[in-house]
Amino acid sequence: MQLLENLLPATCVSCRKVGRTICDTCLSALQARPRQVDRGIIGWSAIDYSKTATSAINAFKEHGRTALLGEFSKLLDEVALPENAILVGLPSSSTATRKRGFVPAELLAERLARRRSVRSAHALVFARKIADQALLSREQREVNLAGSMLAKPLSGPVVLIDDVVTTGASLREAARAMAAAGNQVAGFITIAETILKIDTSSKN
Ligand SMILES: [Zn+2]
Repeated sequence: MQLLENLLPATCVSCRKVGRTICDTCLSALQARPRQVDRGIIGWSAIDYSKTATSAINAFKEHGRTALLGEFSKLLDEVALPENAILVGLPSSSTATRKRGFVPAELLAERLARRRSVRSAHALVFARKIADQALLSREQREVNLAGSMLAKPLSGPVVLIDDVVTTGASLREAARAMAAAGNQVAGFITIAETILKIDTSSKN
């Protein structure tokens, strides 16, 4: 994948213009607006999960366009890290890892750690098989993930890293596993935040 990316002329992952992995127009559409996010665990996200963000994150995760990691890391420049932080990427299912050949959140954690001169660690795994979260409802996601992750003990405040936060179920499960292994979880960082739609049909 990396080799192909180097041989072929780059095309913008969003608008397909030939030249760079992401063109200036699309890059400026990914305007960093770092904000605190509360999903039962507090963290930070840089951008909204817009159409351009979706294209860019999918190009990285599903098509191995790792050249985007530099841009993603830059979007997070304004987000403060605790002193002595250890960045830990969320695990992917074994099916996804076999298909992609890499764990996207771990690559992002490594790249961000290098940029910010802090440590990163591969310290989270799935202890059992899980169903594809994308196919599940909010409640089913919680059940699917409950008690699914195992963590290693680390020395320093852990910041969980993922590409996108939606319901936060994965991040909460990761925080639970981290705490169970005796770690202190300082929060999370994701590139993008999915703005949850409020269900107005069921007022109570
Ligand atoms: Zn473009």
